[in-house]
Amino acid sequence: MKKLHIVGNWKMTLNKEDSIALAEKIKTISKKDNLNIEVAPTSLYINDILKILKESDINVISQNFDFESLGSFTGGICLDQLIELGVSKSILGHSERRSKFNESDDQINSKLETVLKSQLDVIFCFDSYDQVPFDLIKNNLNDNSKIKLTLAYEPTWAIGTGKTASIDHIVEIHTKVKNTLTEYSLQNVPILYGGSVNPSNSRDILSSNNVDGVLVGGASTKFDQLLGIVNSI
Ligand code: PEP
Repeated sequence: MKKLHIVGNWKMTLNKEDSIALAEKIKTISKKDNLNIEVAPTSLYINDILKILKESDINVISQNFDFESLGSFTGGICLDQLIELGVSKSILGHSERRSKFNESDDQINSKLETVLKSQLDVIFCFDSYDQVPFDLIKNNLNDNSKIKLTLAYEPTWAIGTGKTASIDHIVEIHTKVKNTLTEYSLQNVPILYGGSVNPSNSRDILSSNNVDGVLVGGASTKFDQLLGIVNSI
């Protein structure tokens, strides 16, 4: 049985009260065999959510990080600070960071290099095969037995739109990426799908070939929907 991942990206959609209320509910979700559940709250409340989910089966990760180490970078969040709080993984390159915060491919790839050299794991989002920097990954991730990278295929047009990619399309892209990873001896890198995943489509998506999990935005901020996705496995 393959290991599956369900990752909830809360984006900037919840205020503090709602974030805490959601965390209090999801801490009751118990781990199924071969299922890894993670949530990414907004950075402002990450410490509160970490405390609530400390004893639970749910891992708390970051939505993003900035380039630099501790220093004069107003408004930034660095890997050292996340590590200090006990965060062990971050999302990187989400399409909203690319389109709404103007993060370029070069900037994101440079951050990927930084995080791959750090002790943190990373979920790298891409919206086309060509956006995956396979050489950079290979050069910075030599040991296929200790993979600290997850890829997430997120077609931009499917994010937050209610339009999910067809299973055929998802499998085609995931298989193409997996084949290239295999050529680079990186076949253990999991590949998630993200884009309007909900309890009605999650079972089909999660049981598809070369899909190792889902990255979920909107539905992950509603407890019943998140639970529906978990229970669809
Ligand atoms: C996301 O934010 O990564 C995402 C996939 O959003 P949604 O599930 O709302 O489409």
